[in-house]
Order: sequence, then structure tokens, then C-alpha cells
Amino acid sequence: MNCVVCGERTRPPSLETVPYRAAPGVKLEGVAVYHCSNPKCGESFTEYPNLAGLEAQIAERVARRPGRLDGRSLRFLRRALDWSGQDMARHLGVQAETVSRWENGALTMAEPSERLLRLCVLYRGSHSMADLETQLARTGEAAPDAPLVVDLRALAPASNGGRIAANPAAHLALVA
Ligand SMILES: [Zn+2]
Repeated sequence: MNCVVCGERTRPPSLETVPYRAAPGVKLEGVAVYHCSNPKCGESFTEYPNLAGLEAQIAERVARRPGRLDGRSLRFLRRALDWSGQDMARHLGVQAETVSRWENGALTMAEPSERLLRLCVLYRGSHSMADLETQLARTGEAAPDAPLVVDLRALAPASNGGRIAANPAAHLALVA
């Protein structure tokens, strides 16, 4: 590999431990680091075999980490979700300004919101994630006047064969 700054050859890579700048408190081990052979240059470069896979793995580890997340970690997780600041505001039901205040440390995210963010990171990529993002916004919409209709004709029988006697005006009672 040639140095992208001065064009000299780089030395064979060494495997090093380096801090991961996008997420505080994260260190990467076994990173291939190429050092320029030109002593007047002194540049070094890292090489990642699968940057998208690495970022996904770090996001999951950050989301599983005990304790509260700081602003830079929140920003890192938001980006791992491919959410803009506006997206995050819409999904969590806050103003866009609130998101930037969380991320620059001016405001601490409420714990229920942080738990929801972690949940989204852990379930990102699953087939139900797009549905979850849609449903998250529902709380902020106007409630419809019409009742919610559930059609029992579309209901599959219980796998244990149990039957329910239902008085529509009262609680459900189990019959053997
Ligand atoms: Zn160089």
C-alpha cells in the first residue's frame, strides 16, 4: 500500500488497539495499521475488512452496555439506525431541537426514551423494524372516533385447544 499523503510505500501492517472515535469508550483490537515509511511524513492508515459489519456490531454492543448513554453514544446509535435527527424526533415523539440537545450533552435523555432507542438498535434489520418505526409515531397522532374492530372469524384456534366463553359485556371466562 502507498501512503495517500506522500505516496511512499507503507511498512507491513501491524495489528494494533485503537480508540473508535465515533463512540466514546470503545476500543478496537486487531486493527491493521499501515505506517508510512517516510520519516518526514509519519502518516498512518487503518484498514477495516467490513466497516458496515463492524459498525453494526459496535452499535449492538453499545446498546447492550449497562449505564446511561452519553450524547456522542446517542448520536452514534441514531446513525447506526440510519435515522436523521428529524427521524429520531418523530419516532421518539420529541422536537428536533431536543435531539440535538441530547446529542450535544445540554439535555439528558429521559430513561424511557433511552430504553426505546436501545430496543430499536437491537431490533434494527429485523423484518418488523419498519413496522415498529411506523407504530412508534402512532402515539402522537389524533385518536380516531371509530371503535377498533377485531373479527373473530379471522382468529386461528388456540394451539392447546382451549375454548373461551365470552360475555361481551364482562371479562372473559375460561371453560374447560
Ligand atoms: Zn507518507
